[in-house]
Amino acid sequence: MKTLRILVTGGAGFIGSHLCERLIDQGHWVICLDNLFTGNRRNIARLLSHARFEFLRHDVNEALILEVDQIYHLACPASPVHYQRNPVRTIRTCVQGTLHALDLSREVAARLLIASTSEVYGDPAVHPQTESYWGAVNPIGTRACYDEGKRCAEALAVSYARQYDVEVRIPRIFNTYGPRMDEMDGRVVSNFIVQALRNEAITLYGDGSQTRSFCFVDDLVEGLIRFMNADCGAEPLNLGNPRETTIAHIATMIREMTGSSSPIVYKPLPEDDPTRRCPDIRRARELLDWSPKVALEQGLERTISYFREMAGGRGAEPGGRTWMAAT
Ligand code: NAD
Ligand code: UDP
Repeated sequence: MKTLRILVTGGAGFIGSHLCERLIDQGHWVICLDNLFTGNRRNIARLLSHARFEFLRHDVNEALILEVDQIYHLACPASPVHYQRNPVRTIRTCVQGTLHALDLSREVAARLLIASTSEVYGDPAVHPQTESYWGAVNPIGTRACYDEGKRCAEALAVSYARQYDVEVRIPRIFNTYGPRMDEMDGRVVSNFIVQALRNEAITLYGDGSQTRSFCFVDDLVEGLIRFMNADCGAEPLNLGNPRETTIAHIATMIREMTGSSSPIVYKPLPEDDPTRRCPDIRRARELLDWSPKVALEQGLERTISYFREMAGGRGAEPGGRTWMAAT
């Protein structure tokens, strides 16, 4: 494979840090750009001393010029707790940040992958969700800053492709989990694991019958890289694991797998929480010959081990790396 100069925005976050690692392992030069809003230096601690890796603290809402061949644009808070904390800033990041990524891509003729989301389908009336479904999003709800922001980012990307021939890839990422999820960011898998390991109450929102389909981060990263390098147009592509699970079932699985005595407590369902979500990945199978390989049980086991070691090691990243010093 040709050695490339690759920019990863949001590279110090959960998915971005795994992506940076994989790209470095493939022999590329990687510039990781992040404002550390929800990301952390410890996620990239192993990479900071690598000769082909560079960290740039920068906000994507400010323009920049870098000579690169490819751009993975991931910068954006992804968990409802964070993206709803400052909704105006979330929309700005989705719109202004994406415009900057597109302008850079146009300026230096770099191919650009923009991380979109299953949230563009809202509370979907079509199940499983195909790329041709236009979605059902509440444009004024509490999730709108993220959902509509990402929909606008998609619209910007296809417009740049049509008008300026910018090469864009738009993956619609479904719920992804794994090591390096931030224990404080409120997402379901990290919340449940942390609560179970502490024998604290597991907080189930609503009656737990809502579904999600969880993809292990290694599978997702493989899909992102294949998609970036595929010979295709600007049409969006679902990337996710089609195994659909109720949230109540996830709570039970995690409680059993951790051997926890946590009670399950019911809390109100957040506004506009989607009822069902499951990707139709036929297009990804055909275009990329890609499908997730890591079973939910296996992925949860690896994620639980990570959180166990983080709690026990007080700052030592699993694998013996120390990360407190680098924070
Ligand atoms: P994350 O919050 O761990 O990572 C996002 C990163 O972007 C963080 O490091 C954060 O500091 C950085 N960031 C945020 N705003 C920024 C700004 N203005 N300038 C520079 N950096 C900024 O989230 P993640 O789960 O790794 O998600 C990465 C991307 O994938 C996001 O765009 C998200 O919308 C998308 N996505 C994630 C999921 C998922 O399940 N994790 C699902 C769908 C889409
Ligand atoms: N959820 C839950 N308890 C929690 C956190 C989340 O029951 O402590 C539910 C949430 O209401 C949603 C699902 O788990 O139905 C997934 O939530 P998450 O925030 O991880 O992702 P998203 O809603 O963005 O898909």
